[in-house]
Amino acid sequence: MLANLILLFLSVLAMEAIANITHRYVMHGFLWVLHESHHRPRTGTFELNDLFAFFFSVPSILLIYVGSYHYGPALWVGLGIAIYGLIYFIFHDVIVHNRLAFPYKFKSAYMLRIIQAHKLHHAVSAKHGAVSFGFLYARPARELKAELKRLAG
Ligand SMILES: [Zn+2]
Ligand SMILES: [Zn+2]
Repeated sequence: MLANLILLFLSVLAMEAIANITHRYVMHGFLWVLHESHHRPRTGTFELNDLFAFFFSVPSILLIYVGSYHYGPALWVGLGIAIYGLIYFIFHDVIVHNRLAFPYKFKSAYMLRIIQAHKLHHAVSAKHGAVSFGFLYARPARELKAELKRLAG
């Protein structure tokens, strides 16, 4: 059981790295056509960028299926992806972008740091020149601001 929980925890951690790399190189790369909607003011309830949630749900569902019927450890990796997706949704969509009119204002240094970092990601609404592609881990705001300045050249 402990091994499974460690696998679950590592999967959640790994997803932060995968989300960071995907955001930097895919969403701000060849799939900018979908992600661009997230860097523009939203016009309706949904945005094209929401499709990424479906993309990421596919490996999660497959791994949970494989884990349930064929190879146990896959279940914990699949659940790790699903849990990361839930944390990402709550942090990114509910807390930072306030899509569900969430009333609570966070005060902890960690929360303020990652919220500000993602807001700094949105300081640039173009494909290139953005900073801070992760979500649950972020460099200090002053470093991000310095990088923004440098990128703006
Ligand atoms: Zn972005
Ligand atoms: Zn965002």
